Amino acid sequence: MERLSQEQNKTKALEVKSVFSVDVEDGVSIAMRDIFNKTVPQTDRVIRTTEVILDLLAKHHTKATFFTLAQVAEAFPALVQRIVSEGHELAVHGNKHLLFSQMTPQLARQELSSAKKKLEDISGQYVIGHRAPAFSISERTPWAIDVLLECGFQYDSSIMPIKASRYGWPGFSENPCLLIGNDNRKLVEVPIKPIKLFGKAFPYSGGSYLRLLPYSLIKTGFSQNPTQSILYIHPYELDTKQYPDYYLAALKKESLWTQLKMRSMWFNRKNTIHKLDDLLSCFRFDTMKNFIKATEQQKTLKKINFRELVARGKNSTL
Ligand SMILES: [Zn+2]
Repeated sequence: MERLSQEQNKTKALEVKSVFSVDVEDGVSIAMRDIFNKTVPQTDRVIRTTEVILDLLAKHHTKATFFTLAQVAEAFPALVQRIVSEGHELAVHGNKHLLFSQMTPQLARQELSSAKKKLEDISGQYVIGHRAPAFSISERTPWAIDVLLECGFQYDSSIMPIKASRYGWPGFSENPCLLIGNDNRKLVEVPIKPIKLFGKAFPYSGGSYLRLLPYSLIKTGFSQNPTQSILYIHPYELDTKQYPDYYLAALKKESLWTQLKMRSMWFNRKNTIHKLDDLLSCFRFDTMKNFIKATEQQKTLKKINFRELVARGKNSTL
């Protein structure tokens, strides 16, 4: 935070834009491990699909934040070097893509400090940001904030302030906020801003929502929040090539329900690139780091005593 504030003093006023972020992970090897219980190497499909996003960002002269899995960075360091050489921000998306709900605080500390060090060693840059796999920081894992502070992160973007079955922290602030933790240490949290429909909060700005929802609805969300939308995309959501034989063979052995669930992740992938292209034409985006700097300059960051929030418990609202 101090580092961000120092940089902020040196720079002129920044325009607040929405955020374009990418969760760089290899969908094939994660699914093989998490769904089919088989370990396979990282596939180079993540290189091709991430490069499609890099090319699209270059076409629109836009910089983004790439929350990168350390396993991908280790397997494909040249991809990380391309990301930073083109002026994008590098940030952490875990070491092995373990959800916070699957980890103890001790394991999370090891995973995150190791991931941060690996990305810094490969890129030669200081890394300050974090996004949890599957938005897994929730009211069930508030200790994650202390772990992030201990590991030296300055901001996090892992909270979906909605009620969903697998993730979400309903009642959490929908706007960026400054969490004050132990020993007065501070972490900026940038939640994924939802839109309100029929009085309920719905995500619209990334992942399967961006892939599956009608584009008119997505655009309505971005129009309502032209300087507050947090776009997030996974490279595999642009992957339209047939999956490897070992994946298809493993999928065939699963229950009909699992087969349908996994096949649903392929719907509408060929349209994703066109949606991103149009959003980049219609709205202005920047990195998470610049979004936070601009928000700090406007003094709109709400301060939240994190200890009090956790103590108030599950039903607390901000
Ligand atoms: Zn992920």
